[in-house]
Amino acid sequence: MAVLVVIEHVDGEPTEPSLQALTFARGYAVDGAPGEPVHALAVGLAPRGLGELGVGTVHLAEHDAFGSYAPAAVARSVVETIQRLAPSVVVAAGSELGNEVMAHVAAMLDLPLAANCISASGDEVTRIRWGGSLLEEATVHSDVVLLTVQPHAVAIEKAPVGEPAVERFTPDLLPADLAVRVTDRVEAAADGVSLADAKIVVSAGRGAGSAEGFGIIEELAALLGGAVGCSRAVTMSGWRPHTDQVGQTGTKIAPEIYIASGISGATQHMAGCKGAKKILAINTDPDAPIFASADYGVIGDLREVVPAISAEIRRVKGA
Ligand SMILES: Cc1cc2nc3c(=O)[nH]c(=O)nc-3n(C[C@H](O)[C@H](O)[C@H](O)COP(=O)(O)OP(=O)(O)OC[C@H]3O[C@@H](n4cnc5c(N)ncnc54)[C@H](O)[C@@H]3O)c2cc1C
Repeated sequence: MAVLVVIEHVDGEPTEPSLQALTFARGYAVDGAPGEPVHALAVGLAPRGLGELGVGTVHLAEHDAFGSYAPAAVARSVVETIQRLAPSVVVAAGSELGNEVMAHVAAMLDLPLAANCISASGDEVTRIRWGGSLLEEATVHSDVVLLTVQPHAVAIEKAPVGEPAVERFTPDLLPADLAVRVTDRVEAAADGVSLADAKIVVSAGRGAGSAEGFGIIEELAALLGGAVGCSRAVTMSGWRPHTDQVGQTGTKIAPEIYIASGISGATQHMAGCKGAKKILAINTDPDAPIFASADYGVIGDLREVVPAISAEIRRVKGA
């Protein structure tokens, strides 16, 4: 039986979490049933380079409705492919889109969904729960195992098999499948590095004091070639846009270094920066929970510490 992977892409370029999910699914196929062919499903355009990652067949759903994102319509395409292919497992990225689409798939088929898995073998999965504060081992009771893969849980690995076959189909969409769809997109101001991909993220929380308090954070991020992040206390105060928020209900980041200033380290915030290789915390409170997760800590006022770091970087750069 086959393994089916739902691939998200931007104009044909697969997203990193999708390629991670593909690597995960390939390992799953080998562990679960050697030699199971890997099938991919995409909507709109056939994503590039999937043969490099072991995909033998791409099922390409084409429909006028795919000009804009409609989660239930994508899910309907997945359901039709499941019914045609009868895979043993269906895998998608544990991204907002992947989890949304797979939740619709599970509801349409009345099957369980294991979201945000970090490993799986047969019907046994280990998945992240409660914003990353616990790992749950679970058994999925279903003929078709539906799961999503926690972003950054596996590294992308290539396994070239040549150019995949592309099988096109037009899903039979119901009016209800298009009831919820994206009608407009407002791009975030593009000022260089995106938060999700940045190698360095400089963040501040309520301790920044105001929107203007982010001036020194932006300055340090620019000096380091990094991105600016923040906590939910900041977005709730309207100091920064939601696109800057790190955490369970914000962006999940995995930079080389995460500089978190004036952030207490609530579980929901840490759920978004667990993937950081190193964390530098700056906080006036020596008992702030973030110090328990930090590799380096400075007990001090961010309004003094952050400009001092910037000044030292400038001095070293001779700027
Ligand atoms: C369902 C749910 C989802 C959530 N999702 C998220 C999420 O995605 N991301 C997220 O961040 N939060 C999230 N939260 C909110 C989270 O629980 C915290 O409330 C939030 O992270 C607190 O933000 P903060 O650390 O900036 O503020 P606070 O907890 O108020 O901490 C401010 C910190 O700044 C320090 N400080 C103050 N002044 C200075 C100074 N001058 N210099 C240095 N340090 C200073 C203080 O000592 C304190 O530790 C969520 C909550 C819920 C219930």
